Amino acid sequence: MKNKILSKADLLVLGFIFVVVFAGFLSYQYYHLEQYSLNLEKELLQIKGNLEAKSMELQNTILDRDTLAQKLEEEKSRMDELAVQVADITSAVGLIEKIQATDEELLQKYSRVYFLNENYVPESLTQIDQAYLYNPDKGQYLYTKVMQFLQILLQAAAADGVDLKIISAYRSFGEQASLKYSYKVTYGSGANKFSADQGYSEHQLGTTVDFTNSEIGSTMAGFDKTNTYEWLRQNAFKYGFALSYPKGNTYYYFEPWHWRFVGTRLAERLHSEGKYFYDLDQRDINTYIVSLFD
Ligand SMILES: [Zn+2]
Repeated sequence: MKNKILSKADLLVLGFIFVVVFAGFLSYQYYHLEQYSLNLEKELLQIKGNLEAKSMELQNTILDRDTLAQKLEEEKSRMDELAVQVADITSAVGLIEKIQATDEELLQKYSRVYFLNENYVPESLTQIDQAYLYNPDKGQYLYTKVMQFLQILLQAAAADGVDLKIISAYRSFGEQASLKYSYKVTYGSGANKFSADQGYSEHQLGTTVDFTNSEIGSTMAGFDKTNTYEWLRQNAFKYGFALSYPKGNTYYYFEPWHWRFVGTRLAERLHSEGKYFYDLDQRDINTYIVSLFD
């Protein structure tokens, strides 16, 4: 029995030692794991805290961005409003300048109580192409800004094969006074100075034309029976011309040859309503000054 290497008691002791050592090892491992887990938890908490802080920061950034976007939107609409106001003011100024730049005499009704001043001279006159004159030897002049309208009218008449000539356009006060007419118009015994001035005033403006054709010439009699007059009645309004003194009017003698430039807008209205320039109220007519040469 003594030869046995280890006795039972030895084995027990060894077993016990092993158990104790193993338990110690396990406790040690457990302690480490616990420490590790605690550290991990601490780290996680820290990360969570950081993430929360970042999230808050991000939210604030988003809020700031939204606020900025809103402010930008407000500024933009304020700028748009300003732009509209500036455009309104600019167009109002443009209109005022246009009205001021246009001679209001050009749309004035003349009567026994209101006639053109003898010193009135048009702003600018241009000579009418001789090809359109009944009497090419005597130069005729027209208000410069009206010339393009008259030219288109004359070209349209020519294109329609209408025999249309100009016998008189601008006449100065002096010309009227010395009665140097290239043709004579005979009025009835009721003619008086006021009436003569009234019809004459429109010529002194430089915007009025007396038409004729080769058949009627300077006699003017029977012009209202011609194709030329019929063509003017149907077309002159398109180029801004209106018959000042129609048949049966109460203002002046019937002058089928006498056409005054009143602008295309007013001429078109008069034509479509079957009215004449002297039928309208002066205040109504004045609203067309701004668009006279449009
Ligand atoms: Zn005339």
